[in-house]
Amino acid sequence: MSDGINQSLPLIDGHIHLPGREMCDKLLADLKYTGTRKFAVQNIGRSRHDPDGKGFRQALEMKQRMPEEVFVFGGLDFSDITDGAYKPRVPLVEQVQKLRDMGCDGLKLLTGKPDFRKFVGHPLDGALFEPMLKWAEETRFPVLWHVGDPPEFWSEHTVPPWARTRGWWYDSTVPKKKQIDEEIERVFLRHPKLNVTLPHFFFLSDRLDDAAKLLDTYPNYALDLAPGVEMYHNFTANHAKARAFFIKYADRILYGSDFGMGCGWGQDRGMMIRRFLETDDRFDVPEDPAMTPDERPKLHGLNLPADAVRKICVDNFVRRVGAKPRSLAADVDTLMKRWMV
Ligand SMILES: [Zn+2]
Repeated sequence: MSDGINQSLPLIDGHIHLPGREMCDKLLADLKYTGTRKFAVQNIGRSRHDPDGKGFRQALEMKQRMPEEVFVFGGLDFSDITDGAYKPRVPLVEQVQKLRDMGCDGLKLLTGKPDFRKFVGHPLDGALFEPMLKWAEETRFPVLWHVGDPPEFWSEHTVPPWARTRGWWYDSTVPKKKQIDEEIERVFLRHPKLNVTLPHFFFLSDRLDDAAKLLDTYPNYALDLAPGVEMYHNFTANHAKARAFFIKYADRILYGSDFGMGCGWGQDRGMMIRRFLETDDRFDVPEDPAMTPDERPKLHGLNLPADAVRKICVDNFVRRVGAKPRSLAADVDTLMKRWMV
């Protein structure tokens, strides 16, 4: 661990994914190396990419094995997509109630990611989602909702090199950024009390005034720090203002690493975030399949006061989700039978 990192901080990682089973030992080792004590597995749900809900089963199994450490944010069942639109057999509000009854700690939504928005085929503010969002708002059930993407992802010519080589950019069939922004704005107006965390800083890292406006308007909303490494470049380029923002809004920002992504990850992605928060170091972006090659200038840490670091890395998650993971209501086989209707 590098100098200036507080080794006694009981770090909670609010945003990781489970890779294939053969990679789980490495994942747990990398979380430990980062100083992570508890973590929230984000499962994107069942779909034609995972028709048997294997990812969800794996998340529940890990929660069963490590009940003090593992939070699970469950996803919806997207297997009923026909003719480019989602027609769920089980209403979404029932699905999310079932997730909570099973012992999940929150709901993960990927419906605002542009390619997923296209795949689902319903506007974010559409009638399909409304009862579920109303329920989540009333119950304060935690939601981690990926909405948008960095603007450069809408063109082959501006997308970063690591993404271009994987074909990760959006063609004209994918909803535009403006459309997604308008849809989510209507959701926000309708559900101001949603216990929602918007990952990747809601892609506002280069628009801190807009981020401040969002957080001031919606006191229940929060942002997470899972890279997009562009966030850390944007904060570095605007260092004094970013530091002031992080101190002012320390109650509204959550640590998250996105460890475990399917494309692979570097061991130091979590440590990069910690170093950025806790030290004044200038350092290169560490090797990582979703961050490098990266020719941009070094990152420059914010060296935040200890109490701000503690809120971002521990307390905000505890307040919004809980100090202790919820208990599973039954063994995993029974729960999966209940889930797979
Ligand atoms: Zn993620």
